[in-house]
Amino acid sequence: MEPILQVENLHHIYSAGTPFEHIALEDVSFCAHRGEFIGIIGHTGSGKSTLVQHLNGLLKPTSGSVKLDGVDIWMDKETTRASRFRVGLVFQYPEYQLFEETVYKDIAFGPKNMGLSQEEVDRRVREAADLVGLTEEQLDVSPFDLSGGQKRRVAIAGVIAMEPEILILDEPTAGLDPEGRAEVLSNIENYRKAKNATIMMVSHSMNDAARLTDRLLVMSDSRLVMDGTPMEVFSRGQELLDMGLDIPDVTRVFLHLQKMGIPVKAVYTREQAVAELLRIKEAADA
Ligand code: ADP
Ligand code: MG
Repeated sequence: MEPILQVENLHHIYSAGTPFEHIALEDVSFCAHRGEFIGIIGHTGSGKSTLVQHLNGLLKPTSGSVKLDGVDIWMDKETTRASRFRVGLVFQYPEYQLFEETVYKDIAFGPKNMGLSQEEVDRRVREAADLVGLTEEQLDVSPFDLSGGQKRRVAIAGVIAMEPEILILDEPTAGLDPEGRAEVLSNIENYRKAKNATIMMVSHSMNDAARLTDRLLVMSDSRLVMDGTPMEVFSRGQELLDMGLDIPDVTRVFLHLQKMGIPVKAVYTREQAVAELLRIKEAADA
């Protein structure tokens, strides 16, 4: 599989050369493939938001590179501009960035900026609204009259309407109730399926990260310390705990069983837990 995104030896220093100098990324390298769902986890301040803001050219690397289809996004102005459309970034608490008088206009803002025709903008607004479950009637209301969860959907639709090949979301479910969280996650999955898009999601919820992703990147103290399938990452459960990270509930229970000397394998979903317990039971019965 050809990588669509390559991050090579990325370093970022905030306020370099001042007394406020802060190293936020140190030698981060990884790649992402088309259609892949990648989770990014790590403690607060580990560099997750700094990392994702490099992927669409919002932040410029202090050194190292970000490449789309093998081309450095900082190669020239046109390439940098194009990367902002190819890689869509939904910020943390994106609803604070809604500002238009109607939901329609807010969703249309991004695609309009791309210089698309009126009809194409209209098609994209309606398709994106539909994908996140907003009704026709809601397009005409003020975003400020919507609930928190609905505002979040408008903000996500605004980025989806640009039809990015890579959709990045920084803690998209933060602050939502369980129902709102489930809806946002299914919107993301719908977009991935509809466009075969690459998804990168920064998440605090280990249960969501475990359940939805193909691959996990673990950040700790400005460095990428793990890059693997959820199974590879969660089989290092104790290391994650030592880093101050949470792990899925079932992973924690099984880690405890291992410490008690019960020969179970690492698991990270309930289905795996059930299957593993049945396996152990059958082995014991035999
Ligand atoms: P995370 O998203 O994992 O919580 P961030 O990427 O936001 O981490 O931050 C990484 C580190 O960089 C933190 O120590 C944070 O305080 C620092 N930082 C973030 N933004 C800035 C900034 N604009 N100027 C200086 N330091 C910053
Ligand atoms: Mg952050």
